[in-house]
Amino acid sequence: MLPALFLSHGAPTLVIDDVPARDFLMALGDGLPRPAAIIAVSAHWGTALPMVTAVASNETIHDFGGFPRALYALEYQAPGSIALAERVTDLLAGQGLDCRLDEARGLDHGAWVPLMLMYPAHDIPVIQLSVQPQLGPGHHFQLGKALASLRQENILIVGSGSFTHNLRELDRSGSGSDEPAWVGEFAQWMDDALTDGRVCDLMSYRSRAPHAQRNHPTDEHLLPLFVAMGAGSDPNDPRGEAARLSATRLHSSTTFGALRMDAYAFS
Ligand code: ZN
Repeated sequence: MLPALFLSHGAPTLVIDDVPARDFLMALGDGLPRPAAIIAVSAHWGTALPMVTAVASNETIHDFGGFPRALYALEYQAPGSIALAERVTDLLAGQGLDCRLDEARGLDHGAWVPLMLMYPAHDIPVIQLSVQPQLGPGHHFQLGKALASLRQENILIVGSGSFTHNLRELDRSGSGSDEPAWVGEFAQWMDDALTDGRVCDLMSYRSRAPHAQRNHPTDEHLLPLFVAMGAGSDPNDPRGEAARLSATRLHSSTTFGALRMDAYAFS
């Protein structure tokens, strides 16, 4: 059974930057069984209610400004899956979560940047599920749990955000290799909580993790982590409150000084 993944997608330039996180993503697809389809949960699609894309083929959304021209020419023309989108709305409805179809939207860079590196042939169907920025970790954990059974059908669930995400504190000047202590202390607390399976601490990370507010002034880039946590829980226990958390760190690196690129698998 496939794990559920949390990936840090970094800046849109990750697809052209020669950094360890790009090498990691390029190798990751080959290291997993080939999925039948992918559900991408990107920090860059926020809606009041959960929404899922239901299109036959995905357009590539270049939802960023001020980057090199070459990035705007990149296309990731993966097929969509209307049938899978409808399954997702049914599964969420079964857990009391109202979910709507979006019959026009394509893939934003939170989805296509990591997928372009993992599966460059763009031949695996991809749908996108939105996050709800005004709702917290618990809601997103439930969203993920509602989808956990899809892992048994060889469907890869990918939460795409950023392990730390304070764009005002990035070092864009040079190598960005000097990581501030407030970044490292937050990331270490998160890694300990994830690998120790401390679900309650993680749900309250904004009050319990050191420097949480500084690392995530808003938490939309961490919300996909909680979807992946839920999706990686036991699919035969969708209502289990004491879900056992089994997290494995797949990658850890830093870009721009303060942008952690860590990735986790949940199974
Ligand atoms: Zn982002």
